[in-house]
Amino acid sequence: MLVSVGKTVKSHLSAFQIDLQNLFDKWKCASPMPAENLFPIDILNSLGEIGALDALLSHEEGGLNLCRSPEGGLALSILLRRIGYLNLSLGRCLEGHINVVRLVELYGTPEQQHVLAQQLRGGMLAGIWVTDGLPPVTIKQENKGYRLAGIKGFASGVTQVGLALITATTEQGHSVMVLAPTTEANRRRVGPGKLMGMQASGTGAYDFTDIVISPDCILGSAGDYLRQPEFSAGAWRGSAIALGGMDRLIDLLRWELLDRQRAHNPHQLYRLGKALILQKTASMWVQEAAKVAYALSMTSEDVVATVNLARLAVEHAALELITLVQRSLGVSAFVKGKAVEQVMRDLMTYLRQPAPDEALTEAAAWFVNHDWPGENA
Ligand SMILES: Cc1cc2nc3c(=O)[nH]c(=O)nc-3n(C[C@H](O)[C@H](O)[C@H](O)COP(=O)(O)OP(=O)(O)OC[C@H]3O[C@@H](n4cnc5c(N)ncnc54)[C@H](O)[C@@H]3O)c2cc1C
Repeated sequence: MLVSVGKTVKSHLSAFQIDLQNLFDKWKCASPMPAENLFPIDILNSLGEIGALDALLSHEEGGLNLCRSPEGGLALSILLRRIGYLNLSLGRCLEGHINVVRLVELYGTPEQQHVLAQQLRGGMLAGIWVTDGLPPVTIKQENKGYRLAGIKGFASGVTQVGLALITATTEQGHSVMVLAPTTEANRRRVGPGKLMGMQASGTGAYDFTDIVISPDCILGSAGDYLRQPEFSAGAWRGSAIALGGMDRLIDLLRWELLDRQRAHNPHQLYRLGKALILQKTASMWVQEAAKVAYALSMTSEDVVATVNLARLAVEHAALELITLVQRSLGVSAFVKGKAVEQVMRDLMTYLRQPAPDEALTEAAAWFVNHDWPGENA
């Protein structure tokens, strides 16, 4: 997708959203359920066909600035929510891809941004593999390059991803970001083991031992990966995907209750009402988190604390929704091969994000001394 002269950015974004809605409607009606351990390559290809992957890039690279501007962020939140609905595993991989685009835009040189854009326009999927395996990944200077050693233990899309942004620890104990190729099949490892859900994400591990990289592959400065607010603010995207999973569960719940002619029972309506409140609550939190993640005038601490609370709010809402769906549908929600059963397992697994206690308590520690941003008039 190249932004052509004469058309406003706004009209490009509107056209993109129409294409996205059409894609969503097409895949929403597709059946039967795909095998739960197969990477959803067809949906990814459809996204490529409507230019959704190119749209992630900056205007300079012919994209729609989805990772940069507040208007782009709005379109991005719809994209993530829709993909979360269709397939949480794809959502996970797409989120990793987007995170790489975002981090390279923030910390990369113009040359690195351009090289990445070229690779991604060629159809490459990028991953962000920061969770270490055993041994953790290290980096050592060697002649004019750097030698990596160690394993990344959670690597989503391990067979699909062609380039990963990883973190590596230097001999001085600093953490640096590295862009490394990931196409050698003999480096793939089993990863965390067979997960209860999210199997289609193909989450394995990857051994980087003895890969030698050039200095151009090092992104930003030591410590940039953990730099705030981006480190925490980026979590809003994962919440948008989880919200898509919630949307799907609500639909599956409504449809089954109607099918079984149980929808008008007052107890079912009570639960459905509660489920709808959870969905809307999560949706409002995601909107707020997306807004603050792109806000230029807010303090880093306000952004981090707000997005952390949003992340936890969506997690709580999703877990409560799952309980309501199980109570409403009974054993029918536990039958293998049914969409509702799989989506619940995928969502429960998807929601395992790092350090939830810390995210909640650090946000509380901030807001105990500060008013909500924009609400202290
Ligand atoms: C399907 C899937 C795909 C993934 N793909 C990737 C990927 O591509 N790349 C990648 O880098 N990672 C990936 N991950 C890993 C992911 O980013 C998280 O690291 C992982 O899910 C953390 O989950 P956890 O529940 O074990 O977190 P933890 O942070 O270990 O939390 C578990 C519990 O321990 C508590 N806790 C945390 N730290 C401490 C502490 N120091 N002391 C005491 N308690 C503590 C938490 O609050 C929580 O209650 C993936 C995970 C999944 C499930």
